[in-house]
Amino acid sequence: MRTKETISKIVECTTSITCDRCGKVITRDDIVEWQEQQCFDGCGGYGSAFPDSVRWTLDLCDSCWYCLVGEFVKYETYGQEDDEPEDE
Ligand SMILES: [Zn+2]
Repeated sequence: MRTKETISKIVECTTSITCDRCGKVITRDDIVEWQEQQCFDGCGGYGSAFPDSVRWTLDLCDSCWYCLVGEFVKYETYGQEDDEPEDE
C-alpha cells in the first residue's frame, strides 16, 4: 500500500544559456536552438591539457559547435539498414 501526499518543492532549472563563443542567448522558447545547444563540463586531471583539479564548463550554440568541430565529425545516415530491401 502506498500513501501519497501532494508536496511542493523548489526546483532549479536552466531557463537560458549564453554561448561562450559568440554570446548568443538561447532560451527554451527557441525550441530548435535549445535542442541543439551543447553544454559541457569537466575537470582537468593530472597530465591533462586543462588545469589539474579545476572544474570547467563550456556552453555553445549549434553554429559555434559546428564551427569548432564540424570538420572532424564523421556522419552516419540514420535508417540506412531499414531502407535496404529484405532478402527473400
Ligand atoms: Zn555561438
